[in-house]
Amino acid sequence: MQKFDVIALLNDFDGVDTFPRMLRYVREFSPSAKVMTFGRLSNQVPGLFERFGFHGIASAGDYEASVAGFIDWIADGKTIPPGVSLRQEDGYGKPAPGIFLHAEHWAFPDVRDIPYGAYDRLYQQDSNKFCGIPERRELVVPLARGCSVGCAYCDVPTMQGLRERRAGVVPTLDYIQQSFDEGPFEYVSFYAPTFTLKKAWVRAFCAEKERRGLRFPWKCVTTLFHLDPELLATMAGAGCVRVSIGLETLDVGAAGSLPKIKQDSLDAFRRLASAGRASGVELNCFVIVGLPGDSIQGIDQTISEVLAQGSRVRPTVYTPYDRIEADMTLEEVGGFNRQMFVEDIYSGEQKDLLYKLLFGNHADRATKS
Ligand code: SF4
Repeated sequence: MQKFDVIALLNDFDGVDTFPRMLRYVREFSPSAKVMTFGRLSNQVPGLFERFGFHGIASAGDYEASVAGFIDWIADGKTIPPGVSLRQEDGYGKPAPGIFLHAEHWAFPDVRDIPYGAYDRLYQQDSNKFCGIPERRELVVPLARGCSVGCAYCDVPTMQGLRERRAGVVPTLDYIQQSFDEGPFEYVSFYAPTFTLKKAWVRAFCAEKERRGLRFPWKCVTTLFHLDPELLATMAGAGCVRVSIGLETLDVGAAGSLPKIKQDSLDAFRRLASAGRASGVELNCFVIVGLPGDSIQGIDQTISEVLAQGSRVRPTVYTPYDRIEADMTLEEVGGFNRQMFVEDIYSGEQKDLLYKLLFGNHADRATKS
């Protein structure tokens, strides 16, 4: 059996319950390995992971920099890994500041490392409300990190920074072309917190894609504020088939939970939905249920409005990450997963109604071409 010198475990909000078993395997099969963890949850509450006895816990900056620094520390005993608390005899040390890498220092994933059979199954049932397109092989392109909008309910700004970093048009298209040469990909999903934040980049991408004669369809995520019908038409002309919009809510009672640019967005949403219908681009609307100040009626109206405009709705539960404490049980932490209500603010009957709105079969559609 293969032994490892270093093992780095990715953590996330909804997977931490599996850590004790995973660590038992690690310690049984590779007992001399130095083990660290990195990911969204340790970024938010690093102290939560001290109970596992990791040699290092990454909590700031880009993961690659933290993991690479940790490996160097294992090798030379001197390197100070950025953003990583190291285990010492008397507990965990304070981490050195994390590093946000320049986009040109990121590596795009090697598609040969990704288990696509399992990946495809995630999207097979559209009613599961993931955002992929059923029966179509997706190439994910991690294009940008960071977001300047600063929504209080989102961990992107603290985890990736307020300044957006983005790969160039040319390396992005080169990567897509190489990947399409290597596997039967059918469309591209851009992972960028706010794809249209840099409109000049989007226009340059559309023009270069056209110049190279590339026909692949693609999808992305943005906000209403950063997208207008004219830009949407340009994107549609360049093969965009779906735009996910961080709509969050149209309930005026919950407006105070949103940043200014996401408030009062009904007219902008209707305009864009109409432009989407005209250009054949599907709008996929992220809706947050349970925002402070919202109401069951307001949530219902938001979802009904999205569906009435012929758009898709992808609802999640409002999750106050800032309430996760380092001494919570793993079961308690596992509840902060955007699928369940963490606080007991609704009656059983209200919850039933809300879960129906969240997980019910909305009669929306999924792009298959
Ligand atoms: S716009 Fe989107 S990515 Fe940016 S902070 Fe808000 S929710 Fe997060």
